[in-house]
Amino acid sequence: MRAKKSLGQNFLQDEGVIHNIVRLINPQADEPIIEIGPGQGAITDHLQASGAQLRLIELDTDLIPKLESRYAQAANVRIDHMDALQLELTGEPVKVVGNLPYNISTPLLIKMLYQSAQVSKMVFMLQKEVVQRICAVPGQKLFGRLSVMLQHRFDCSAHLHIPPEAFIPQPKVDSQIVVMVPKVNPKQVPLPELEQLVKQAFAMRRKTIRNNLKKIVTTAQLEAVGIDPGQRAETIELTQFEQLTLLLTDADH
Ligand code: SAM
Repeated sequence: MRAKKSLGQNFLQDEGVIHNIVRLINPQADEPIIEIGPGQGAITDHLQASGAQLRLIELDTDLIPKLESRYAQAANVRIDHMDALQLELTGEPVKVVGNLPYNISTPLLIKMLYQSAQVSKMVFMLQKEVVQRICAVPGQKLFGRLSVMLQHRFDCSAHLHIPPEAFIPQPKVDSQIVVMVPKVNPKQVPLPELEQLVKQAFAMRRKTIRNNLKKIVTTAQLEAVGIDPGQRAETIELTQFEQLTLLLTDADH
């Protein structure tokens, strides 16, 4: 079968890599797991064999009959032909995993962020740079919107570098796995407001935080949460973004 570039199809073929990913997912019998983009089943076969209650979300019309026949005998597999960006989680927290099509990874991560209460753990293979962005800390060049937003709700860790040779066809970039576990007690901050603030704060990376936020925040408000108005957003701590959001939303009421 020809891989479709538009659907970000790079199929895993390295058994060692597949084994390591499955180990990080750590599937358990009867636990609910959603796999996004099962493709030809490289990871799926192992998840199915664990006895987990699997829900597969695949957009490619050509792959659906193949998946249906591959798992025809498996009572623990349900296949949904749909766009993962339309996924609405309800009920008990579920593991969400996948070797994601790189073109939807950022919107999907943001979508999952808004549904973090319905997630028990996420294990995603992503472009290495995206994983580095997610896990970056203040002071690092890649620290930005994705780092602040995802670290606000999840404990994030980077694992396993995966070279292009692990896939057919080979992607142009290196890949890496990120594991994200919802925080037990995330600070209660309204997400849309935090997202808006962070977006503004990083709008022009070379500008100071005062300049990027001058329409919405006063110097006194920055100083109230311990931010020097001359700092750049990439040096500001997650807790300071959270506090600033709270200060602004409280001031609105
Ligand atoms: N899991 C397989 C593997 O590791 O070999 C395939 C991974 S491939 C990088 C990404 C998969 O996601 C493909 O099967 C592709 O058709 C599917 N896909 C692409 N866009 C999607 C979307 N919006 N929603 C659900 N699946 C999508």
